[in-house]
Amino acid sequence: MTTTAADAVLERYEAVIGIEIHCQLRTNSKMFCGCSTAYDGAAPNTHNCPVCLGLPGALPVINRQAVEYVIATGLAIGAQIPERTQWERKNYFYPDLPKGYQISQYAIPLAAYGRLAIETSAGPFVVEIRRAHLEEDTAKLVHGEGGGADRTTLVDFNRSGAPLMEVVTEPTIRTGEQARRYAEELQLLLRAIGVSDADMERGQMRVEANVSLRPRGTEPFGTRVEVKNMNSFRSVERAIAYEIERQGHALDNGEPLVMETRGWDDGRQLTYRMRAKETSEDYRYFPEPDLPPLRVDAGWVSAVRAALPELPSARRARYAALGLGAYDAAVITADATMTTAFEAITAAAGVDAAPAKEVANFVTGAHAKALKAGDANFLGTAGASTPAGIATLLGAIASGLVTRQVGRDLLDRHLSDGTPASNLLAAAGPGPISDDAALLSHIDKVIAANPRAVADYHAGKPVAGFFTGQVMKATGGAADAARVTTLVRERLNLEG
Ligand code: ADP
Ligand code: MG
Ligand code: ZN
Repeated sequence: MTTTAADAVLERYEAVIGIEIHCQLRTNSKMFCGCSTAYDGAAPNTHNCPVCLGLPGALPVINRQAVEYVIATGLAIGAQIPERTQWERKNYFYPDLPKGYQISQYAIPLAAYGRLAIETSAGPFVVEIRRAHLEEDTAKLVHGEGGGADRTTLVDFNRSGAPLMEVVTEPTIRTGEQARRYAEELQLLLRAIGVSDADMERGQMRVEANVSLRPRGTEPFGTRVEVKNMNSFRSVERAIAYEIERQGHALDNGEPLVMETRGWDDGRQLTYRMRAKETSEDYRYFPEPDLPPLRVDAGWVSAVRAALPELPSARRARYAALGLGAYDAAVITADATMTTAFEAITAAAGVDAAPAKEVANFVTGAHAKALKAGDANFLGTAGASTPAGIATLLGAIASGLVTRQVGRDLLDRHLSDGTPASNLLAAAGPGPISDDAALLSHIDKVIAANPRAVADYHAGKPVAGFFTGQVMKATGGAADAARVTTLVRERLNLEG
């Protein structure tokens, strides 16, 4: 086993990690104005109004859908939703913040005290979530080329005022892997309930990691550093490993750590200092005078709860109950295309057709491969393969109507050109020889013709597969290989 530098540090220190995640919500309009959020790819400063430009005298109006999305997220993580919340101004100056303050929620978040269960290589783990609240996004600074006096920075206000949900965990995460798995699971959840596209590369989901170390066996938290700018799950785990190593060496050498915000440099695989960390006092939070407190009545909460779809954890459990292994259940649940395919095929499969395990193998194997190659036109238009056609072919394999080998070819053809399953099965001719007596006559011939292989078998060499192969050849593939192997062994053992 290889030990990384971070692992070595963790023999002496324990890592304390808290994760903050900002997600862009999938609303049509911005958080406090009617401007469209469909500004991706649009010309700069084309999605603006006095509110999101921060012009004096403009008044904000709360986006009901954004509030509902945070309530939905809160319910999905088992959080408490208060009856009354409020808005606060978080004051700071930066060119991407035209008002000089961000409208956020400070004292009473829309959701508090939730949790998310994850699986890690070391087993299951539950991440405690402190809060989820609503706020507005900032504008975007676009830095020009060139240096010195020629260097320009432009401001694009299209993103200004877009709704953001911030989800903050308790500092109970202990490893980079837990942090990465948590971010992945939260992304899956947000997509499942439809509140955010949560694409990290597109900045729709921004993960920040707070990391500190403390000597093993001690209670007080050490000085923490906040790491930003990680644009993939892998970089979340790597940035945390880097910080653990860096902080461990500093502590070992008696160098003081400072509370600071650091950035992750993916090219150089290291974190660098950006600025000293602000504290909440720096922001001079106070209640937003332009907005009333927000009342969330119980009826609204139960309506949102009733509209929640099946959550990923429930879906995995249901798949496991259908007979899928934990791994397959997780893989299919984590991929929307696979989920759609699995659901459609099992729904079409009817009473006595393909077992769920057979469908799962197909969806994660042949079907995923065909999709990648651009071959599968699954769930497509007329003439394409259909869930029912696939279910029929999988059922034919499972029941032994065609051999696995033949069935696989039929599936490939159905996927690539949509030939109806019934035509394919009819053309495949008679099914495999399921009659043991017929198979045994082939087996006995093969045994008689290969005395050396028989001797090898009795000497303990792994030659059973050779006999099966010869029999499959003799039958033109029209036999169930597993059954042939069983019979071959029986026959050879009798001989010995
Ligand atoms: P801020 O508002 O300055 O970002 P918070 O107190 O809200 O600070 O904490 C932000 C995140 O940092 C939370 O996820 C929290 O769990 C985590 N955190 C707090 N203290 C520590 C610490 N000493 N080490 C690591 N993470 C911490
Ligand atoms: Mg913070
Ligand atoms: Zn606007």
